Parts: sequence; C-alpha cells; structure tokens
Amino acid sequence: MKAKIKLSLVVPCYNEEDNVELFFEEVKKCFQEKMESYEFVFVNDGSKDQTMKKLRKIYGENTQDHIKIIGFSRNFGKEAAIYAGMKQAVGEYTTVIDADLQQRPEVVLSMVEILDKEEAYDCVAAFQDKRKEGKVLSFFKKAFYKIINLVADTRFVSGASDFRTFRSNMREAILSMSEYHRFSKGIFSWVGFETKYIPYDVQERNAGTSKWSFRKLYKYAIDGIVSFSIAPLKLAMYVGTLAAFLAVVYMFLVVLQKMILGIDVPGHATVVTLILFMGGVQLFFLGVLGEYISKMYIQVKNRPIYLTRETYGIDDKEEADT
Ligand code: UDP
Ligand code: MG
Repeated sequence: MKAKIKLSLVVPCYNEEDNVELFFEEVKKCFQEKMESYEFVFVNDGSKDQTMKKLRKIYGENTQDHIKIIGFSRNFGKEAAIYAGMKQAVGEYTTVIDADLQQRPEVVLSMVEILDKEEAYDCVAAFQDKRKEGKVLSFFKKAFYKIINLVADTRFVSGASDFRTFRSNMREAILSMSEYHRFSKGIFSWVGFETKYIPYDVQERNAGTSKWSFRKLYKYAIDGIVSFSIAPLKLAMYVGTLAAFLAVVYMFLVVLQKMILGIDVPGHATVVTLILFMGGVQLFFLGVLGEYISKMYIQVKNRPIYLTRETYGIDDKEEADT
C-alpha cells in the first residue's frame, strides 16, 4: 500500500545537470516540517548532458524520499515531459515546476496553503509580476497575448506560466486531453476549473541557459494560436468576401468611366499589382491551411506523445499503458 501523498512535484528537466541536485536540496530544505508528504516526479526530457546520471544518483542516495524518474528516449519537449510526469503523479495536489530554480519552492508552499484554505479554487497559478527580459521580447509576448485572446475562445492570462498547483480532479482533466500538440497554457485554461492567479518574482536561472530562442518562441506562438483557435481559417472567408466586393465595385467604376466620361482605362499597372496582391493573399491562406492540416496529419498518425527509455520508482504496470 502506498502512503497517501499530499503533493506531487512534476519537474521537466532538459540539460539541467548543474541544477537538479541543488533543486532537490532546496525543495527538501524548504518543505522540511512544512509539507506532510510529497513526491518528486522528475522527467528527463532526453538531456544531452549528465542530467540522467545526476537524477539516478539522487534516486540512489535518497531512499527515504518519494522519488520517481522518467527518462525519455529523446527530447520530446517540455509539454510532453509535463504530461508524462503528471501521469505518474499521485498526490492530492500536483505542482508543475522548472528545475532551474527560477521558480522558488516557497511559492509552492503558499500555493498549497491557498488550496488548503480556499475550497473554491482548484488551481493556483503564478504569473510573472515584473518580466525580467528585454523590451523587444516583452513587446512580442504582450502582442501574442493580445492576439490569442482576440481569436481564441479560451482565456489566456498574460505572464502566466506553467508554474501552478492544482487538485487531482484538474490533473485528471488535463490528462484526459491526449492531443499531440500540447500547448499547456491553453490546455490549463481550456479544462476550466477555478484558478487563482498569484504574482511571483522570477529568479535568475541557477545554471545553464534558457532553451527558448526567438525562433522557438515564434513557433510556439503559432502553435498556440493554431491549437486553440480556428479564426485564421475563417479569416480567409472574410478577406475573400471583401476582395470580391471591392472587385465588383471597381468593375462598375470602370464601366461607368468608359460609358459616361469616355475615358479608356489603361489598366496594366493595376492588373499587375492586383494579380500579385491576390496571389500573395491566396498563398498566405494556403499556408494557414497547411498549418492546420499538418497538425491534423500528425494527430491522425496517433503517435505517442513521448517514449520512455528508463524509469525509477515507477511500477512497470503503470508505465506499460502509456
Ligand atoms: N525543458 C524541457 N524540455 C525542453 C525544454 C525545456 O523539459 O525541451 C524544461 C527545462 O529543463 C526547465 C523548464 O522546461 O526545467 C523550463 O525551461 P527554460 O528554463 O529553458 O525556460 P524559461 O524558464 O526560460 O522559460
Ligand atoms: Mg527557466
């Protein structure tokens, strides 16, 4: 019989060799006497450094603690890692937290306290109070939230991260969404439930570098919009309707010019411009279609979200059905 666990910490790790041990120690220090029972669910997302070795070491040396480790066969991305970790989490509450100590365990304690006290909430999410990043990046991130909130039915809170603690009912709801393209910001809000947002200070990364480049963020933003909105598909219809309407108006104009004023319309430049413009618009929307179709294509193949190479502290039976 497994002891009842109060809190599961789901920790995605990708190239965090210099962080995992410190993270583990810091959490233990912080939770000491404050948290009845908790477990670590580390997910090594195909790290290319010594992260797995360090995790194995933690597992071997701390037999008193509840530790689960899932090692992926390659890098599947943070979203897949969160999904895999949540699948193994058994706690009454589950927290998703980064391994780089940018998110302090003290905040987790206050999240748990809120859930303990306030029955009305199922989830406590932390959002960045002050963004610690460049102006340009900050501008694009804000623009992204504006756009996605305009086009998606789901609400997206600016600055809210994956750093959150939720009850097991919400965990089950999230796990029931087994889509391949996992945009967790969207999934968290799509499932609903009452979420309380609390501000938190993002710390500097302990060691290593962020895995986000501008290109990756751009792709991530497009993925988010495509996954949670079909507005871009409808846009083609509106633009098409508008173009057709303008064409008819222009046609009447030309005919009237010719019949009433007798002006010949030398349309060469206009024709070239219009052909190029309409060609561009059509190609653009073909691209939009392509985004959706490619996502459908991958989803229809029904490939697993992740593949496991090795696990520690996990019953084989549980892992077998992934
Ligand atoms: N991460 C992961 N797989 C990836 C990229 C990142 O599991 O492909 C993990 C990473 O180890 C960290 C968390 O996701 O624990 C957040 O990544 P990062 O610190 O690079 O993002 P940032 O904090 O800059 O948003
Ligand atoms: Mg980080």
